[in-house]
Amino acid sequence: TRPLLEVNDLKKHYRIAGGLFGGKPSYVYAVDGVSFEVARGETLSLVGESGCGKSTVGRAVLRLFDITSGQVVLDGQRMDDASKDTLQTFRRRVQVVFQDPFSSLNPRMKVRDILAEPIRNFGLARSSAEVDERVNKLMDLVGLPREAVKRLPHQFSGGQRQRICIARALAAEPELIVCDEAVSALDVSVKAQIVNLLQDLQRELGLALLFISHDLAIVEHMTHRVAVMYLGKLVEVAPKRELFAAPRHPYTRALLSAVPLPEPGAQRERIILKGDVPSPVNPPKGCRFHTRCPHAFERCRVEEPELKIAPGDHWSACHLNDLPLAENPMVTPLAS
Ligand code: SF4
Ligand code: MG
Repeated sequence: TRPLLEVNDLKKHYRIAGGLFGGKPSYVYAVDGVSFEVARGETLSLVGESGCGKSTVGRAVLRLFDITSGQVVLDGQRMDDASKDTLQTFRRRVQVVFQDPFSSLNPRMKVRDILAEPIRNFGLARSSAEVDERVNKLMDLVGLPREAVKRLPHQFSGGQRQRICIARALAAEPELIVCDEAVSALDVSVKAQIVNLLQDLQRELGLALLFISHDLAIVEHMTHRVAVMYLGKLVEVAPKRELFAAPRHPYTRALLSAVPLPEPGAQRERIILKGDVPSPVNPPKGCRFHTRCPHAFERCRVEEPELKIAPGDHWSACHLNDLPLAENPMVTPLAS
């Protein structure tokens, strides 16, 4: 069966300067050749530090801007060069929940109108009685009282507002929801509630989620597979259990070493990376991670590693993959 979403060699480069006085233009290589798939009903988490390009991937998938090159394919149909009609259907099938529920809700609109808007725009109800029926059903789905449809966004808590944003996304009857740091701004206990809600909805409605987050502890509860980004590229893609137990990329190992273990007081052996993430304007040659990698060797400075598959549907982009197993320090489980 074909995947619901396919992203093929996606690039998004922003021109930031140059051309003036005949100077050479400069570009931000925000996303630089990213490919992945999301199956129906699956959660794929896209993780990495801020500035790695994960939100740009999310916005490209949502078709919020034109991409530089590559393909975004929904259910076998290309969206990067789609007609207006196709895009209208696409906008119904792929919805989004952003980080800040306050700024993404119109403060002057009552919840009823916020939820009725997509139902009307996408022609999903034949009468206003049917709109009301759908609005009530949405309130039930996200665990808000039906009477609350008469209220304005500011009359709700942060967690409740995020429930409204989820209801608005669901109003369009989507197959995929892009969640861009959707729980990151919420308090710890509220975070867990919203994560549970998303999981329940996913099971009930068969939704696929592209869950963009810098918070690996949340991702571990949430996801089926994980894709790790560094400086505009994917460095590792694997099923959750595989990735958390035996990460194969040195960058993933460093990220995971900072995630608390479930047992109280337990901690993995911390891997501290030297230096900062380099600028995406002038990314390092060869492996983009070589300036910070504790395992870098000569080849890493000149040749870019490609994503290669290992048993367990486990992809990673690292030259250590080409070493004999006995010499590859990445095949051991993460030390705790
Ligand atoms: Fe480190 Fe080299 Fe692997 Fe890059 S290719 S992650 S620099 S060992
Ligand atoms: Mg972001």
